[in-house]
Amino acid sequence: MRLILLGPPGSGKGTQAQRLVHRHGIVQLSTGEMLRAAVAAGTPVGLQAKEIMANGGLVPDEVVVGIIADRIEEPDAKKGFILDGFPRTVPQAEALDELLRKKHLKLDAVVELRVNESALLARVEKRAEETRARGEEVRLDDTPEVLTKRLAQYRSLTEPLIHYYSERRKLLTVDGMMTIEHVTREINRILTALGALEPKEHEEPKGASKSASKASRTAKKTAKTATKKAAESAKKAAKPARKAAKSASKPVSKAKAAKKATKKAAKQPTRKTVKKAAKQAARAANARKGAKAAKKAAKKLTKKRAKR
Ligand code: AMP
Repeated sequence: MRLILLGPPGSGKGTQAQRLVHRHGIVQLSTGEMLRAAVAAGTPVGLQAKEIMANGGLVPDEVVVGIIADRIEEPDAKKGFILDGFPRTVPQAEALDELLRKKHLKLDAVVELRVNESALLARVEKRAEETRARGEEVRLDDTPEVLTKRLAQYRSLTEPLIHYYSERRKLLTVDGMMTIEHVTREINRILTALGALEPKEHEEPKGASKSASKASRTAKKTAKTATKKAAESAKKAAKPARKAAKSASKPVSKAKAAKKATKKAAKQPTRKTVKKAAKQAARAANARKGAKAAKKAAKKLTKKRAKR
């Protein structure tokens, strides 16, 4: 999965990126983090970026594009990545498109976290407070003055990306004013609907793997068909005896198949699959009951006819 998180400073991009990393095991590529590391290490890029960052400006496009181009080549980014804070300008977005095109990689989605500007200052102040409480150094740009500049940069240079990605049908907007948990849930829901993520119930049985969910899905399907067929056969049983007997034999074998598939699914040691298997067993039993009823009806008819 390759994803971009878009939003103004303090919108929660970093927090949500970390949660996605935790859940899906893909890497978070934050240009802000990488630049701060470069500043701390005193590299040439760091020296170039230090002043700009402290003043709330944007580091030149070619510098950040170069950083990202190198970073996505690393083995840990092969499985996918979440871009946090990149792209921040239209030329950066174009450069990213080109990078991905050359590598035959697809961008799954751009998730925009929309927040009220009035809430951002409070959020950034809170972030600074929490950082201080952990005994860590507070970011030089997490001050009301610099935040105002960063917001102005966002509006003029980054916001045009909303149009850029919506034109390319990549943009998905999430209400970033909800709780952290709600925002995460909404992002996961959107990504699942997009097909970028497996539905949670299919990915959760760690170790029980795909075959377990596949088996239970097959069982569910077979049981459903068997039940339907049995119901149809029960109806048909009111018709001539021979016809009913014939149709009654079909669901019996289907019900057997359903029972077998259910057993297979039930073997997987997760609560979900066991629960599912129980449901399927009930359906299969239902199918068998239907078949029995059909047979009984057929017998009755034969007897009636014999009497006549
Ligand atoms: P962030 O941690 O994403 O808020 O970024 C902190 C600062 O790093 C920004 O205010 C910019 O000065 C710089 N920066 C981070 N990402 C980019 C980018 N994609 N383009 C230009 N400057 C960036």
